[in-house]
Amino acid sequence: MAMKITVDLDLCQGHSVCLGECPEVFDVVESDEGYPQVVVLQENPSEELRAKVLLAANYCPNHVITVTED
Ligand code: SF4
Repeated sequence: MAMKITVDLDLCQGHSVCLGECPEVFDVVESDEGYPQVVVLQENPSEELRAKVLLAANYCPNHVITVTED
């Protein structure tokens, strides 16, 4: 089973904690909302990135990142 990452952009406020924890999977760019928001670079990242992805999800202050199994 592979990880599947989804994000709730309604809640993302661009803190960039995700980018700091796992830049392989998350980027944060300017959005039409007038502030930066997360972009998922890999929806199904490889297993080696699991620990970093989970750290990003745990530390995201707005609980934007959801990790499920595909
Ligand atoms: S996903 Fe979370 S940590 Fe990443 S930019 Fe959005 S609010 Fe910040």
